[in-house]
Amino acid sequence: MLAFLSRRKETTVPDPIAPQKPATPEVLMRFLTQGGATVELTKAVRAGRGTTYPFECLGCGYDFDNYSSIVDAREFANEHAEKCRAMPRHA
Ligand SMILES: [Zn+2]
Repeated sequence: MLAFLSRRKETTVPDPIAPQKPATPEVLMRFLTQGGATVELTKAVRAGRGTTYPFECLGCGYDFDNYSSIVDAREFANEHAEKCRAMPRHA
């Protein structure tokens, strides 16, 4: 009974949530893309622009830096991660 379970071939599946690299202290949030890459959201303070919350996808390279609200930046970064199918550039 249930002998067929013991004959199943074991396969190794890569961990889809393994981080590409350790987050730097400047990274406030990280989002996992559909392809396993990471979107990193940071905080930037620049003269003349004030505080912004840029984010960059480490899979496809898309970046955006025009939000002064972390709530808006988080939502947009998360939306990108939900749709982006890019895989990590550097495993
Ligand atoms: Zn992307």
